[in-house]
Amino acid sequence: MAENQVVLRHVTKRFTTRTMGTVTAVDDFNLEIKEGECFSFLGPSGCGKTTTLRMIAGFEDLSEGEIELCGKPVSIKSKNLYVPPEERNLGMVFQAFAVWPHMNIFDNVAFPLKIKKVARAEIESRVKAALKHTSLDGLEKVFPSELSGGQQQRIALARAIVTNPKVMLLDEPLSNLDPKLRETMRFEIKELQRQFGFTIIFVTHDQSEAMAISDRMMVCDMGKIVQIDTPENLYNYPNSRFVHNFLGESTFINVIIKDGKVFPENDLSQALNLEIPEAALNSPDGRMVIATRPNAINLSKERGERGFLTHIEKRIFLTDKTEYLVAVGDQLLKIQTPHRVVFAPGEECFIEIAAPAWYPPEDKEAEAERARRQRI
Ligand code: ADP
Ligand code: MG
Repeated sequence: MAENQVVLRHVTKRFTTRTMGTVTAVDDFNLEIKEGECFSFLGPSGCGKTTTLRMIAGFEDLSEGEIELCGKPVSIKSKNLYVPPEERNLGMVFQAFAVWPHMNIFDNVAFPLKIKKVARAEIESRVKAALKHTSLDGLEKVFPSELSGGQQQRIALARAIVTNPKVMLLDEPLSNLDPKLRETMRFEIKELQRQFGFTIIFVTHDQSEAMAISDRMMVCDMGKIVQIDTPENLYNYPNSRFVHNFLGESTFINVIIKDGKVFPENDLSQALNLEIPEAALNSPDGRMVIATRPNAINLSKERGERGFLTHIEKRIFLTDKTEYLVAVGDQLLKIQTPHRVVFAPGEECFIEIAAPAWYPPEDKEAEAERARRQRI
């Protein structure tokens, strides 16, 4: 079993500004990331991803808690222990192409080794190897401005691997690249990890990127960890409406439970044929939200066992599937089917929702707080 390589215990960071007062950017984070793992921080802008990464790197002090890297404490707030970034043995790549414009590629990549006073001959051979691994060999004398965004980000990667770090911190490293290149570079990062064996912490707000690259990921929202698991488990068993909505496509219906039956919120004329879970029965006013994936709803011309009679409001042709918006009371449910399932707008149909997830109703205050954090 692999060792824990990055451990956070009760890590908290508060910022106080004149205009906003005090914001808890990171609230009691507890994390254990294993050696060789590719672990993503995923969440909307303002949820605390960069702040957490900066605390791990040592650029940011903690308000509370402690951080351990490779079995050694590097930040302990209560003991005022703080190891500076250059002694943490980390590689880092950021969203902005943070390369030095006045240095050629060789000098950019050699820089961390020169700081460490590595011998000239060793610098030569290690830079050469790093450039080879990032497909930049032959470009030693070129200046960053002569290169594309993708190549500039490769310089940053080469500079990050040249010191042979144990942990690689990547903060939205692909966000400024076009989608095709993003996919290629994602693959290259994984390949570098395979060769060098470092642990990756990958920060992104892009769920498909996180799903593709991660062994496990942490979903956070408004400074709090919401759920940590494998991409597959997060998709199949989201613990909240927020995670359900954030990963993959979702469709929701606000419902109300009355006399042991489930109705669309503002329409008691027809019940949805659903089994009510224990937790939903305990809802104080009977209001809940059911959530499902648009491709997990059965759309049919026949009633079947549990069919709910309704009609098609809208049909949208997507490249690889057809999307229908179907009326459920005064709400619209999104259903996606293969192209061969054909209904016309206005046509009568039956829907069956197999096993939806149940969540408490949407929290309007949370929505406002999330927006506030993104603006700061
Ligand atoms: P993310 O990387 O997930 O987008 P951040 O970690 O950058 O989020 O920010 C989390 C919260 O902390 C936001 O509300 C942000 O405005 C606030 N914040 C981050 N850095 C500072 C700072 N230096 N001073 C004040 N507030 C900050
Ligand atoms: Mg950020």
